[in-house]
Amino acid sequence: MNEEIKILFERIKKARYCVALTGAGVSTLSGIRDFRGKNGLYNDGPAGPLDAEKIFDIEYFERDPSVYYKAAGSFIYNINEKEPSVVHLVLAALEKQGLLKALITQNIDLLHRKGGSRRVIEVHGSPQVHYCLRCAGVRMGFDEAAAIVRSGDLPRCKRCNRVLKPAITFFGESLPAEALRDAGTEAQNADLMLVLGTSLTVNPAASLPAYTLRNGGEVVIVNNMPTHLDSQAIQHFDDLGEVFGGLGELLEDTL
Ligand SMILES: [Zn+2]
Repeated sequence: MNEEIKILFERIKKARYCVALTGAGVSTLSGIRDFRGKNGLYNDGPAGPLDAEKIFDIEYFERDPSVYYKAAGSFIYNINEKEPSVVHLVLAALEKQGLLKALITQNIDLLHRKGGSRRVIEVHGSPQVHYCLRCAGVRMGFDEAAAIVRSGDLPRCKRCNRVLKPAITFFGESLPAEALRDAGTEAQNADLMLVLGTSLTVNPAASLPAYTLRNGGEVVIVNNMPTHLDSQAIQHFDDLGEVFGGLGELLEDTL
């Protein structure tokens, strides 16, 4: 095994408060396609390329929510066809052993929860909840909404029949305040932050590692593309699958 992975494992064990920040690269290992890459989802709509700005645009959603539900049927609501990757599973195992205190994610695919992680902060919102844009207090959980979407219908408000919106942050909406605050606090508390599968181009993820660095913490980056913080990272890896395969073996040896 790569010596650097052993060094990383020692670092994680010694850390007082280790936090992970994850992005799309973690999900592509589970067969979830990223949006804009070569094989990206947006190149592959039923009637030609899908338009991200339409699928996740709040004004567009209010006019025609079926566009979102049609597109998301094959990458959000089909979670029972997706398996957590080695990264999801080892992160959950690290948390269980007390070696990881919190997980901040940009992903909206719920795979960290499916993998067994408990303290998950979803800074771009989450389809765990669907709500009515008109009636305060009307909620539908993911499983119920997903069953309706998979049957080809739209989840509707039981009070006014309007199509429900997932609590994912759409273009034109503000990010979830509570998740943002929690993510900032966790990043400040961290003496070690693992930055995984994100190129740190979008806020708030782009700015969170700086909170850790500013408080004297260390940052490790695992990503197959350069990031603006590479020169400040104490370790840097390209291959998420290799690093987490290795960490999983090392963790098993200690149990
Ligand atoms: Zn309603």
